[in-house]
Amino acid sequence: MMKLLQILLLFFVFVPFTLYGQSSELANDLKEHVRILASPEMEGRGLGTAGIELAREYIIDEFEAAGLEPIGESFLHPFQIRLGLAWVPAFNIVGKIPGNDPDLRDEVIVIGAHYDHMGYVIRADEKVIYHGADDNASGTATLIELAKYFSANREQIGRTIVFAAFDAEESGLHGARRFVGDSIVNPADIKLMFSLDMVGMLEEYGGLDMKGIGALDGGEEVATRIAGEKDIRIKARGHQIERRTDTWPFGNVGIPAIHVFTGLTSPYHQPEDTYDLLDYDGMATVKKYMARLVTEYSNAPQLQPSSSFIAAARVVDGQVVEIRRPFFNYGIISHIGSGHHKYRDEFFDANSVFNFGIGLYAQFHLSNKFALQPEVLFDWNGSKWVEDNFRRQSLTAPLNIQYNLFTEGTDARVFVLAGPYFRYNFGGKAGDISMDYDEVFNETEWGYNIGFGVEISRFHFGFTSRRALTDIYQNESAFGEIRDASAYFTFGIKF
Ligand SMILES: [Zn+2]
Repeated sequence: MMKLLQILLLFFVFVPFTLYGQSSELANDLKEHVRILASPEMEGRGLGTAGIELAREYIIDEFEAAGLEPIGESFLHPFQIRLGLAWVPAFNIVGKIPGNDPDLRDEVIVIGAHYDHMGYVIRADEKVIYHGADDNASGTATLIELAKYFSANREQIGRTIVFAAFDAEESGLHGARRFVGDSIVNPADIKLMFSLDMVGMLEEYGGLDMKGIGALDGGEEVATRIAGEKDIRIKARGHQIERRTDTWPFGNVGIPAIHVFTGLTSPYHQPEDTYDLLDYDGMATVKKYMARLVTEYSNAPQLQPSSSFIAAARVVDGQVVEIRRPFFNYGIISHIGSGHHKYRDEFFDANSVFNFGIGLYAQFHLSNKFALQPEVLFDWNGSKWVEDNFRRQSLTAPLNIQYNLFTEGTDARVFVLAGPYFRYNFGGKAGDISMDYDEVFNETEWGYNIGFGVEISRFHFGFTSRRALTDIYQNESAFGEIRDASAYFTFGIKF
């Protein structure tokens, strides 16, 4: 009887435990890293805090235990960043596993994950910690487990693998920028880079983003094939480099850099981004996928940027120095605002009415500073005078030169604009009477635009003021010279 009880006990306690242990020992390890990195003691890993110091010690211990070699004298790559008036010390943590192939070991694959987060704030005398479990204890934990994996399987890798836990990502990708800028590894040797940034929500997101994988020649095919083997659905791909994570400083010097990402499904940049919410089996799957993918890439005969990625790059002396925006693009644009007539010989003007235009625009990026933007708009413009409304339907064609005051890679810019416009009027009413373009009103008009705009990714927002330099009437009216004037908010979407 005792025996049977023991066996039963063993069965109920041990068998489920063993099954559980088999499927998720890795998941448990990942969970433990995230639990510690996102714990209240680490205070949300804010820049220059005691909390992030603890996180740093933890990561260094794990890198050491994994058997990584430091790049220089230690795992630390120190730098300073300016926050307001103060200089704050920051540290990347960098280790490597040398490759085994004599022909390939001088080439490097960087696996990165930022370990900083937003820290804490004091709100109503209470310390509110931004735990940053998904962002980015999840990526850091996966980085540590990949370091352990490749250390234990180092005979399988051809190229050298560099593991980088980046600091100061949240304040502007500083860690990754300095890693590239300070040539911690010669950027010319880096053939491929991954940023594991927010990888804790695989199941809920329904797949994995690998944005930028198309920047590597043949990258999409390999990544998709291995994803099939691991039963992962790849959601985002393509050669565009993500600019909101550590991929950007690498991509901007021509290195294919991939954002490994499971979406913004966690409480993004909120205190509630805690360790209990993450999908650790999903993270284990991501880790296994990355291990397989990086092993294959480390042994590939060649790792080269894809032609579509190169086509977007500016090359100087055979080196990619910047990813350039395409010379030409086009899209749809609308102008929404108001207009009125200016009575140039009177002390008064007419009142404003709603103006609206919609049409197409094209952009020719002549240099990093200048662009030319022609537009063709169906335009409803007019004015309100004492007795009634004045309404015209026109075809309006502005041609503006844009001067960039600020650019961030190819994805964002702020510009001022100026240029002429030409207008052909084909319809309209003054009060109840249709406009007579044969005898009374001018069929054509021209003038100038001035304004400014912002472009972020595919979206354009701006403001334009438009002034006619020609008269509305063919002959001088009773009020003297009358000209159109208008002001618009502009909204555009690039195709
Ligand atoms: Zn992040």
